[in-house]
Amino acid sequence: MNPAPDYDVVIIGAGPAGLAAGLYAGRARLATVILEKGLPGGQILLTDWVENFPGFPEGIAPLELMENFKKQALKFGADIETDEAQAIRKDGGRWVVAGRSREYRARAVIIATGAAYRKLGLAGEERLTGRGVSYCATCDGAFFRDQEIAVVGGGDNALNEAIFLTKFCRKLYLIHRRDRFRATKILQERVLSNAKIEVLWNSVVEAIEGESHLERIIVRNVKENRAYPLRLDGLFVSIGMDPQTGFVKGLVEINEWGEIKVDQKMGTSQPGIFAAGDVADACPKQVATAVGTGVAAALAVNDYLLNWGRHT
Ligand SMILES: Cc1cc2nc3c(=O)[nH]c(=O)nc-3n(C[C@H](O)[C@H](O)[C@H](O)COP(=O)(O)OP(=O)(O)OC[C@H]3O[C@@H](n4cnc5c(N)ncnc54)[C@H](O)[C@@H]3O)c2cc1C
Repeated sequence: MNPAPDYDVVIIGAGPAGLAAGLYAGRARLATVILEKGLPGGQILLTDWVENFPGFPEGIAPLELMENFKKQALKFGADIETDEAQAIRKDGGRWVVAGRSREYRARAVIIATGAAYRKLGLAGEERLTGRGVSYCATCDGAFFRDQEIAVVGGGDNALNEAIFLTKFCRKLYLIHRRDRFRATKILQERVLSNAKIEVLWNSVVEAIEGESHLERIIVRNVKENRAYPLRLDGLFVSIGMDPQTGFVKGLVEINEWGEIKVDQKMGTSQPGIFAAGDVADACPKQVATAVGTGVAAALAVNDYLLNWGRHT
């Protein structure tokens, strides 16, 4: 393995949070590297249009948006390395991030590794994501005005999303594998009294079908062991998220949903390690909030490094 280069800050993840943090850190003249295991841009590249990022009243293609994020971070001096962070350890007052190909030493670290929506794991699901299949009502609800859609799930998030989506859709099927919800009572009452929502109890999605766009799903009632097609314009999968924290388990404090706990300055339980974006507990799961928390983390790193001698 090559000797570890020395940076002021290593940012892990080049999604909206990591790239925004990189721009601010680079512009503050901090020696900055952003590690990205895949293509810079993050989860938003899974969809084909973003309508709710401020500054683009007509919307923008995510690839174009994230290319601009990347250009701006590079312009102000951040490096972007293709590498996957596998562990973080302390060594002589510095943090050392072990990547697959080398190690990176730094005085501070920002974890911006995002989260992955849990998938149903069905054929067609990935191909039709952004083409009728979605994991985020806030992001995509407005695309389904007067259409017929379904939400899969039975927790608080699924029920909240279903209620929110009835502002747009004509009809919503809520597909739940059990005969009762685990969501809070008040949400259950709102769902059950909403005329647009029909609950399909004891039901699972067995197939997701369509050519260039979602056309139908196959629903199985597991109690009656009966399968039938359901024509749909949109399917929202709301069965949870997995924050990408495997490589820092035991190092920083994590909440019951697997998100990294942060304070008001995006600091984690380890001095010098910050977190931003979807991986952090304080961040609603949106591009704009990922950007905001990424910027806040970079500003906090700058402050932290001004007083660095006192922390170590
Ligand atoms: C289909 C879809 C549609 C969406 N639509 C919208 C929308 O319209 N509007 C909106 O505001 N939000 C939308 N979102 C949500 C939005 O994409 C996220 O909230 C946002 O991308 C979070 O940014 P982030 O930087 O925190 O994380 P991410 O975007 O998840 O980026 C994290 C990056 O870290 C990398 N990474 C992870 N682990 C490692 C590691 N160990 N080492 C190196 N790199 C690593 C990942 O490859 C990824 O590139 C959508 C999400 C999805 C999935």
